[in-house]
Amino acid sequence: MTISCDVLVIGAGAAGLMCAMTAGQRGRRVRVVERANKPGKKILMSGGGRCNFTNTGTTPANFISANPHFCKSALARYTPADLIDLVDRHGIAWHEKELGQLFCDDSSKQIVRMLLDECADAGVHVDTGCDVHGVAREGEGFVVETARGRVAAASLVVASGGLSIPSLGGSGLGYALAKQFGHHVLPTRAGLVPLVLTGSHAERLDGLSGVALEVEATARGPSFRNAMLVTHRGLSGPAILQASSYWEPGQALSIDLLPGTDALDWLRAQRAARPASELRTVLAERMPRRFAQRLCEHWLGDRPLRQFDEPMLARAAAALSAWPVVASGTEGYRTAEVTLGGVDTDGLSSTTMMSRLVPGLFFIGEVVDVTGWLGGYNFQWAWASGRAAGQVA
Ligand SMILES: Cc1cc2nc3c(=O)[nH]c(=O)nc-3n(C[C@H](O)[C@H](O)[C@H](O)COP(=O)(O)OP(=O)(O)OC[C@H]3O[C@@H](n4cnc5c(N)ncnc54)[C@H](O)[C@@H]3O)c2cc1C
Repeated sequence: MTISCDVLVIGAGAAGLMCAMTAGQRGRRVRVVERANKPGKKILMSGGGRCNFTNTGTTPANFISANPHFCKSALARYTPADLIDLVDRHGIAWHEKELGQLFCDDSSKQIVRMLLDECADAGVHVDTGCDVHGVAREGEGFVVETARGRVAAASLVVASGGLSIPSLGGSGLGYALAKQFGHHVLPTRAGLVPLVLTGSHAERLDGLSGVALEVEATARGPSFRNAMLVTHRGLSGPAILQASSYWEPGQALSIDLLPGTDALDWLRAQRAARPASELRTVLAERMPRRFAQRLCEHWLGDRPLRQFDEPMLARAAAALSAWPVVASGTEGYRTAEVTLGGVDTDGLSSTTMMSRLVPGLFFIGEVVDVTGWLGGYNFQWAWASGRAAGQVA
């Protein structure tokens, strides 16, 4: 038996549910198929269980894509204010944490509940535990083989996400479908992911796992000033996660350990003020003592400031403002918050997310080559692209 509907959405994540409720509100008969045992698993896990559901400062500059203009239209038509309206209508209490990041006061479950309630009101049918095995074009529509049988639909929306955290549903289905229908898929890689150190770089930080300090991290793209955390495998924390999305193996990563300070001026002033003090003692006023000590042992020199002549001081300053640590890789999709790359936006309409090659086929959310910074931007893209497709699918 074949079930038929107007719109079939693959994936009950943030993008898929937003698209489904929007299409349902237009009177379309909508079904969502989700292979996990419950919808919105990533939403549930997000923001430490409180879902950082948007960022009030969202602009296209907060996204990485081969075509930086592609995200503009959808983001302009469904803004953080629109999402906040929805959240408020559902009586969900929220707060701003820092840098425009909005979180639920209580639980991410409320965001999933909100989306499911909207879907139910719009008559959307959500099937969980229902993997998609294959898709075929039939006439002007699509026939989808699922674990529960065949579904025929006039419009097909691929919202199956990226490869990150496979245990939360990440799959390569969206990329395979894109290729099947003639779309170009840009190489994917893990983003917002901890960096791994090996060899002497790892040995020098041995035992410091858990130590955190404010830094400014840069890898090719913009600089991110925020916390860096030493882990038992390397480096993490918001500043490193942000920079990881711009970093590629073999490339330099620059970490300023005294952000906002001219290191050489500061060191000179310290030397003049207290020449008998050890560098590590002085540095421990700006960063955790154990980290300062290790830094002096391996990178800066461990002696009283009066023993630093100008060239030595300049070398120490250079190492402080661009700490020469070399990452050997990332922790990969296992711990990555997002997948960079994906369905090439050249093949999609930026206003509707519809394929330029196959009418009625849509790609939304993380499967598309649009990746946000850390801080609620990825959900805002999921909402905005889901909304754009739901208005026409
Ligand atoms: C731990 C973690 C925390 C995060 N925290 C935040 C945060 O606080 N703020 C933020 O903005 N972003 C956050 N992100 C990123 C954000 O979760 C994603 O960018 C966003 O969920 C992408 O939405 P999506 O709907 O495109 O994909 P997803 O949410 O991944 O949804 C895709 C769905 O498709 C389903 N699916 C896949 N293959 C199939 C198939 N073959 N058949 C049927 N269904 C299938 C999956 O099971 C999944 O439910 C976080 C990510 C992680 C991993």
